[in-house]
Amino acid sequence: MGNDCIFCKIRDGEMAGEILYRDNHCFVIRDIAPQAPVHLLVIPNIHFTFLSDLTSEKHDMIGAIFSAAKEVAAGEKVDISGYRLVINQGANSGQIVDHLHLHLLGGQLLGNMC
Ligand code: 5GP
Ligand code: ZN
Repeated sequence: MGNDCIFCKIRDGEMAGEILYRDNHCFVIRDIAPQAPVHLLVIPNIHFTFLSDLTSEKHDMIGAIFSAAKEVAAGEKVDISGYRLVINQGANSGQIVDHLHLHLLGGQLLGNMC
């Protein structure tokens, strides 16, 4: 599963990408096309696409991605100024990579869409 997936390839070192953080559940990279001064991607190690595929054995991983977001937000010094976490799901959201991930955006005043 996820054989042609960019994020699986970065996870496995088959594609370039500086890994800022890694633990047993997830890893963090910088977005290649940043939408804010700080734009990180928190990516679960396991390949899955939709929260609708979420089952109870993935609950530890879900906790871990938020914990990782908290850690890297502090590392990037946006924990005090504030940041936004976004998960795109499906066509209307503009999701382009089918490996679920958390966007962490900060470093500037963000728009008021949500
Ligand atoms: P999505 O729209 O699927 O939620 O977000 C995918 C994100 O992955 C986009 O913001 C895009 O810029 C980023 N991205 C796509 N390909 C690469 C890549 O090869 N390396 C990195 N670091 N980010 C990527
Ligand atoms: Zn993948």
